Amino acid sequence: MSTERPLLQVRDLKVSYGVVPAVRGVDLSVNTGEVYGVVGPNGAGKTSLLSGIGGMVRATGTVELDGTDVSRWPAHRRGAAGMSFVSERRRVFPSLSVRENLAVAGWGLPKDEVDERIDRVLATFPRLEERMDVPPFRLSGGEQRMLSLGRVLVSGARVILFDELSLGLAPRIVAMLVDTILELAEAGHTIVLVEQYIGVLLKVAQDVMVMERGRAAFAGRVDDAAAWLNEHGYMGAAGKSERRIPAASPGGSR
Ligand code: ATP
Repeated sequence: MSTERPLLQVRDLKVSYGVVPAVRGVDLSVNTGEVYGVVGPNGAGKTSLLSGIGGMVRATGTVELDGTDVSRWPAHRRGAAGMSFVSERRRVFPSLSVRENLAVAGWGLPKDEVDERIDRVLATFPRLEERMDVPPFRLSGGEQRMLSLGRVLVSGARVILFDELSLGLAPRIVAMLVDTILELAEAGHTIVLVEQYIGVLLKVAQDVMVMERGRAAFAGRVDDAAAWLNEHGYMGAAGKSERRIPAASPGGSR
């Protein structure tokens, strides 16, 4: 185990919607520049876990960011402290152009700094450069994901909570986004990635949690995760890691 203090430390996180428990006591820690992957069947509580970490839903337990307990902070304060949530379901500003959406993400920063960060986003995603003046609803799914990630880069977030990297995207775009995630981690961003495609997760994550019914059925290093997923029927008979986690848990996994 590393002696480094984790940048993100979550202990006994619980999220409920009324009487329905969605996350039932989850722990995780992520070091700077690492990717923590979360996988599991539909309804397992993955989005609720990210939302609880980001402060978008009420949660109990503790969330520490770089040693500071942010558990009682509202989402916008966690955002200002460097946490950012990226989700297909999380809307960008529909009435603003791509350029404006990027610029707004750098709100409060000096204009030169924002321009420089936007240039870096365009170097990472040249496709966005051609789309700078169009409204986001005209973008393809892949371009929208690029814009969401671009906004995170402009904001300078240290911790990226990423819900579903590959959902609905062509394999070519997914491969490009996987490279971007690896580059972001290399550049020192700390990432919690919820992802249904095990192959994507195993490529980018150092640590993996398999969530089932609001709890960690498995949590550990990626190599052990691959073996666990295989043993518990998540990989399919041929051990194909491209497989998407099915809506229901596979047989014998609990
Ligand atoms: P998916 O892969 O389908 O997004 P998930 O693993 O992200 O699933 P969550 O979306 O966190 O799971 O949902 C966990 C449980 O909480 C599910 O039973 C879901 O129906 C319920 N739930 C999620 N959001 C709400 C909400 N806003 N109100 C009530 N129940 C909710």
